[in-house]
Amino acid sequence: MLRDPSNNLGALLRHLHLDGPVSRAVLAERMGLNRSTILAATAELSAAGLVSEEAPGDTGRRGRPSLVVRPEPGRAHVLAFDVAVDRVVAARVDLGGTIVERHEAVRPRAGADLDRVVEALTRFGRQLHRSAPAGSTCVGLGASYCGMIRPGDGMVRFGPELGWVDQAFGAELGRRLGLGRPVIVGNEAHLGAQAEQRRGAGRGLRNLVYLHGDVGVGGGIIVGGTLLDGDGGYGCEVGHMVINPYDGRPCGCGSRGCFEAEVGERALLDTAGRPADEFGRDAIRAVVDDAVRGDPRASDAVRRVGDWLGIGVANLINLFNPAMVIFGGMLRDLYPAAAATVQRRIATNVLPVARERIRLRICDLGDDATLIGAAELGFEELLSDPLATLARTGDRSLG
Ligand SMILES: [Zn+2]
Repeated sequence: MLRDPSNNLGALLRHLHLDGPVSRAVLAERMGLNRSTILAATAELSAAGLVSEEAPGDTGRRGRPSLVVRPEPGRAHVLAFDVAVDRVVAARVDLGGTIVERHEAVRPRAGADLDRVVEALTRFGRQLHRSAPAGSTCVGLGASYCGMIRPGDGMVRFGPELGWVDQAFGAELGRRLGLGRPVIVGNEAHLGAQAEQRRGAGRGLRNLVYLHGDVGVGGGIIVGGTLLDGDGGYGCEVGHMVINPYDGRPCGCGSRGCFEAEVGERALLDTAGRPADEFGRDAIRAVVDDAVRGDPRASDAVRRVGDWLGIGVANLINLFNPAMVIFGGMLRDLYPAAAATVQRRIATNVLPVARERIRLRICDLGDDATLIGAAELGFEELLSDPLATLARTGDRSLG
């Protein structure tokens, strides 16, 4: 059988992929299905090699224990790619979400044309494909990119960090990889938000805001369990909320006083008096470390930039009433040092009922949040229709 009209197989596999091994009894309860339906679905997935079953350890209870179902590593994997401001990463990720192999290269900020970026990722992708276990099928390709992406074909419409406008990134990477599959591309902050919601700090939450800092600030806003991607897929550009229009710093978008101009990498480094040739995560961490040690200029910079961060976050909380705001990218380094300032802004500027239960956290998945989000894009087809996807993807050698 290659069709799954009831979608039980996909739904069951998604549970295992996201939550790990779980007993049949618990699956039946979570999915609202009877145990014989779970048994049948598990048998089909097991025959396809996607799951395995085993008796649980001693439960201390009497009677026959419910078998534990686990996602089978080594049967289906995806290749995930991440184009960030200072690095490119490629990884093979198994069903269940484990990164089993990765390659990473530093990306110089200047001269990052499409050809060079795709060339590096293709080299990594082919290595990962070759080293995959013989029985494992590549079921999808996903990529994260630090810019505005057209859904469908992975065209980078606007990628100011690399200076890209209308570059056919997804199509070109797919063509050069030669695996006969398209590369599904997403915006890094959108993917970071989804990864943190599925596997990280925001697990199980239906309303959250994820902020991803690097040169600028990207946003991923999840409302009612759904990412707000907007009409064209370009939503959540929180970095260009204008918060300081009169005296603000110039922004890469051509405007002035945008959120990301006030809290991005350059804002912190300039305010701390660091020279223009210092940039990147190490430079950010150095300022934060100096501030924590009590250096007055670094402390002042963290406080001032933290205040703008708090203003932006307060606006987002008032607008979306999220359960959690999650800080990723370089904001993962900045937020802990600026937390008191941000909290003060929230206390001052957020309506009391909207801040009653708000939690602010750094992301759980660290710098892999966007990469893991890209892997989830790659798994989507398998999790929607497991057997048909396996039949379609089969064994493909490099073209
Ligand atoms: Zn802007």
